[in-house]
Amino acid sequence: MSGRVVVVGSLNLDLVVSLDRMPDSGETVFGTAFEQHAGGKGLNQAVAAARLGIPVGMIGALGDDTAGEFLRSVMVDEGIDHAGVAAMPGTSGTAIIEVDTTGANRIVVISGANEKVTGEQVTAALGALGDVAVVLTQGEVPDDAVVAAMEAGRALGAITILNPAPARDYPSSIYEHCDYVIPNEHEAALITGLPTHTTADATAAARAIVRLGAGCVIVTRGSKGTSWATRSTTGTSGVFAVRAIDTVAAGDAFCGGLAAALAQGRTMTDALRFASATGALATTVAGAVPSLPRRSDVDALLASRD
Ligand code: ADP
Repeated sequence: MSGRVVVVGSLNLDLVVSLDRMPDSGETVFGTAFEQHAGGKGLNQAVAAARLGIPVGMIGALGDDTAGEFLRSVMVDEGIDHAGVAAMPGTSGTAIIEVDTTGANRIVVISGANEKVTGEQVTAALGALGDVAVVLTQGEVPDDAVVAAMEAGRALGAITILNPAPARDYPSSIYEHCDYVIPNEHEAALITGLPTHTTADATAAARAIVRLGAGCVIVTRGSKGTSWATRSTTGTSGVFAVRAIDTVAAGDAFCGGLAAALAQGRTMTDALRFASATGALATTVAGAVPSLPRRSDVDALLASRD
């Protein structure tokens, strides 16, 4: 049995419009398809961990609209405890995504209820959830909520993980409350002001974030794997070679996978391998939530490459 993974983060309804070409300003064009999906980095990572067979609780906020009802039903279907997801007056987080035939996209995000998550709410909701092994958060809710997630998680004796995505300035005081920080190359470059293109550069950036106070920093580098650093050592991990067709949510799968593995008491090295397999499988299926793999698929990939 493992303790619970609690994800503090965003929930969005993704409205995806396919079209032949983007309209000019003032122009109307006809789209060719329309789909609605559950999204938001918080919900993606919660679903990732839940599909790996770990008990998951979500803390965040939804509006009092149909999007909110739909997103709550997704958590029910995925077996995620949603008692910590507050219902707020107004709109739920919504992303309007236009994709043309070349694959180019334009995205407008309405933060909606995600913007209303407070540190006080996070601390109270974490306290109400029992058996918290890991607290995982990202940057799509306000700083106050992100900092509270890491501080309150620490106070409860949980392993704390920050995925500093999207790339933005985070309060520098946050890192000392993080056992793990998982940026991609772009986010690591923004946090440190250092280049991250080569393995040596990415390792140096990971070390710089450790110097800000984090326990272990894992810079994810897409098909190049990861560069990581702790206070005493550095290293790299490779990728599982797969037929990648769409890398959307690879980072979310990786973070959910790492949280799930750490909640089960795996070592950092084992957890890194488990997370890499989860991230790799997410690239073999199109979309975000639909691409998040099940535990049996991750175990099969790990067993095939022993
Ligand atoms: P993000 O989506 O946040 O930019 P990355 O693209 O760095 O994150 O991917 C996260 C992790 O997913 C990588 O470190 C790797 O383990 C795995 N991954 C990503 N792309 C591939 C790929 N093409 N093949 C195999 N694994 C991949």
